[in-house]
Amino acid sequence: MPRKTTAAAPAAPPVPAAGATKAGSGSKATASKAKTAKPAAPASAPAKVPAAKASATKSASPKAAAAKLSPAKPRKAPATERSGLIAPGKAVRARAALSGTEKPRRRAVANAAAAVHGRTVKPWSDTEIFEAFSRFERLNPEPKGELDYTDAFTLLVAVVLSAQATDVGVNKATRGLFAAAPTPQAMVALGEEGIAAYIRTLGLYRGKAKNVAELSRLLIARHGGEVPVDREALEALPGVGRKTANVVLNIAFGVPTIAVDTHLFRVANRTGLAPGKTPLDVELGLEARIPDRFKLHAHHWLILHGRYICKALRPDCPICPINDLCRWPDKPL
Ligand code: SF4
Repeated sequence: MPRKTTAAAPAAPPVPAAGATKAGSGSKATASKAKTAKPAAPASAPAKVPAAKASATKSASPKAAAAKLSPAKPRKAPATERSGLIAPGKAVRARAALSGTEKPRRRAVANAAAAVHGRTVKPWSDTEIFEAFSRFERLNPEPKGELDYTDAFTLLVAVVLSAQATDVGVNKATRGLFAAAPTPQAMVALGEEGIAAYIRTLGLYRGKAKNVAELSRLLIARHGGEVPVDREALEALPGVGRKTANVVLNIAFGVPTIAVDTHLFRVANRTGLAPGKTPLDVELGLEARIPDRFKLHAHHWLILHGRYICKALRPDCPICPINDLCRWPDKPL
């Protein structure tokens, strides 16, 4: 989900980062092991502070021991808070979503389960839908996407590159790419190989580079180098499907479209808000039920909600702003 930025200075093509996923799952395994090995603490548990002091005192370095006992550094707001959908000070677990530890296959299984569940629950009433979006609006009146872009063209390219990739990863790749080629003409001049050199940290980068080069050429040939404000024309470009077209129409041109990605598909089904077997079912269901006044931002609110709170594997139900409205049977109240 995109966020408008100013262009950066040209940078050299990036080098692939290795082992990030392994590191993430390793930490998770370690944390899980530690959790099972540790005996349950008594309810009052005042012994924790002396234990920490003892540990610090035993440390080989007095500097390290002092650091352990010193006041904490200013805290960086976790992703959930930056999404604007919850109050500060909650949902530390949301960091796992950003770290990429959620495996795509397990997420797909969770989404399929949600799709079945959604079709078995009582539909939301109009009042409940209005209430849910009123809360999203109150918490985050102007939701923003997380992809960096400077105009409709760079937004289109960023969204094409975001398939099977995180927004953070795409932003790292496009920083240099957009500085080197901010227009369709410059992208064509850079060529498929040149584009690939900038985006090789992304999955499927060869196919994506080919699509970006070709869609740039077609924008010049068919639309005078401009991004068309037309779904059919957008979907005729390589690498551009309905979801990408909806994102571009919504963000670049203010059309109240609803782009259904994996997160939004899960949320709509799991909550029972707009059940559907396919993303298109969900999109049409949401379009039919969401009041017009919320439609422009509905896509961002639901995607942020699914990405940071209603996650596939461990949704943060206790801090969820629509917990009381949601139909998911496993939610803790
Ligand atoms: S209560 Fe839980 S399952 Fe329901 S929308 Fe909130 S986070 Fe998702």
